[in-house]
Amino acid sequence: MPLLRTEEVSVSFGGRRALDSVSVSAEAGRVTGLIGPNGAGKSTLFDVISGLRRPRTGRVLLDGQDITGEDPARRARRGLSRTFQHLELFGRLTVRDNLLVAAELGPGRRHAARTADRVLARLGLTDLADAPCDALPTGAARLVEVARALVLDPKVLLLDEPAAGQDAEETGRFAALLRTLAAEGTAVLLVEHDMSLVMTVCDEVHVLNLGTVVASGPPARIRHDETVLTAYLGKERP
Ligand code: ADP
Ligand code: MG
Repeated sequence: MPLLRTEEVSVSFGGRRALDSVSVSAEAGRVTGLIGPNGAGKSTLFDVISGLRRPRTGRVLLDGQDITGEDPARRARRGLSRTFQHLELFGRLTVRDNLLVAAELGPGRRHAARTADRVLARLGLTDLADAPCDALPTGAARLVEVARALVLDPKVLLLDEPAAGQDAEETGRFAALLRTLAAEGTAVLLVEHDMSLVMTVCDEVHVLNLGTVVASGPPARIRHDETVLTAYLGKERP
């Protein structure tokens, strides 16, 4: 049984269907990619999974339990952690303080400072610990969001375009981090436009287009799937 599963999740904004009966899953110990063109519904699906948006129909299951009705804080305590496509750091706080705010809410709250420093070291952010987040380049700020999600020691980690704004070297280190997290047993669900990152780091990929899942499978298969190429590239192939 996958650790995380959505079952036929639908969301509408006004009359517009943003998600139409979306069923995807993420397994412990694996990196699962969620790809698709802008507007496909990826961030909306993350909102549903993390509890920021109630689906019109459908369910979210964590470890077999229906968590569809639970608020985000409760889900976070269950081990569900996320980052945002539009960064949601406290800009005037330092990097360390952003982590401390999260650490105080998590299982390691009695050792919040130690937890924060351990995660900073792990992500190579120690030198930036005292910098205000406002002052960081995008690539580093995205890493801080990942760090903040990690202080909760999540079982499921949802990453919304975490590598946007990273340079090639940062992306290489980030790929290694994702594999390590998976090796430790975390279920990583990755929304990302960098196809070479997705194809090298993911065990499984779900492809969304216009709110529906058009393909699911290992990267090697997804890469050559005609439906995916058409949907993703937004044009017919010759
Ligand atoms: P993605 O993350 O794949 O780019 P989104 O989940 O952000 O896609 O958006 C999916 C669709 O839902 C888009 O058509 C978008 O315009 C629409 N949408 C997203 N959020 C809202 C909102 N708060 N109100 C109205 N429409 C929204
Ligand atoms: Mg998005």
